Amino acid sequence: MRTFDYSRADSAANAVRTASGTGQRLYLAGGTSLLDLVKLDVMQPDQLVDINRLALKQIEPLPDGRLRVGALVSNTDLARHPWVRLHYPVLSQALLAGASTQLRNKATTAGNIMQRVRCNYFRDGVSPCNKRQPGSGCAAIGGLNRSVHAVLGTSEHCIASHPSDMCVAVAAIGARVTVQGAAGSREIDFADFHLLPGDTPWQEHALQPHELITHLTLDAPLANSRSGYLKLRDRTSYQFALASSAVVLVLDGPRITQARIALGGVGTKPWRAREAEQALVGQPATLDSFTRVAQLAMQDAHAYENNAFKIPLGQQAIIRNLRDLTA
Ligand code: SF4
Repeated sequence: MRTFDYSRADSAANAVRTASGTGQRLYLAGGTSLLDLVKLDVMQPDQLVDINRLALKQIEPLPDGRLRVGALVSNTDLARHPWVRLHYPVLSQALLAGASTQLRNKATTAGNIMQRVRCNYFRDGVSPCNKRQPGSGCAAIGGLNRSVHAVLGTSEHCIASHPSDMCVAVAAIGARVTVQGAAGSREIDFADFHLLPGDTPWQEHALQPHELITHLTLDAPLANSRSGYLKLRDRTSYQFALASSAVVLVLDGPRITQARIALGGVGTKPWRAREAEQALVGQPATLDSFTRVAQLAMQDAHAYENNAFKIPLGQQAIIRNLRDLTA
């Protein structure tokens, strides 16, 4: 492992100032992903700016019904918070479906948003990988691309799937990300935060250099809604999603009046299936309706050598979740 400098920030402004120096300077929160990648020599920071002492650990319901979550709230605290369990069950379930208890205790809200892909070629440090080394190629295309590679939003330069469960639930709920930079703070719509790989897979998010995530503000829950997260994976614990779905529904009798659907494991970013949502509104809660919208959600999917099974699996993740929520 290479040596790096370490500093501890006592305010967000101080953290941004420190991170704005020369060389590669990265923020350190829970470290559950970043420190692994530093040890693997995949990330090579010159300095880590520890932000763990910043006052960003509050979960605050706002007067307009939204929920403001500090960047350093642990995944465990967010999943267990009574307000989240009551009003955003899909988020609580998604968080508890991720990683292990020990990791959730350390992992933070902002860190979860910022986690890097699990592609083996990215993490081995030597294979061609446009994300790790721009212009070097993509070993996953034509290589092993079964479990942590996407079928939606891919490009000829990168096909890695986004690994987060939490972000899939947040995509379905809707949210804004507050960030602080040298010029002050601004908000980014969560739907625009993660970028598709396109021609520049090394650019993964909409942050400007040195900007620091300070909060995530969830949209107010839909009135009289029900929600759930369904994760399908090779084993039922400590495993990334092959396909997952986050669904928020409002019903009026047997008909669906509002729907939000997001997918995980199959997309290169947390994948909101807006066309499928619109097609579901006004439909009866029947298997026929669910099957039609599931097909619609995956209609643009493009499979690679080993992951064609993700297209029907993604459809099943939607159908089963809808059935469970309307049973
Ligand atoms: Fe790298 Fe993306 Fe290709 Fe994996 S899929 S090797 S992360 S460019």
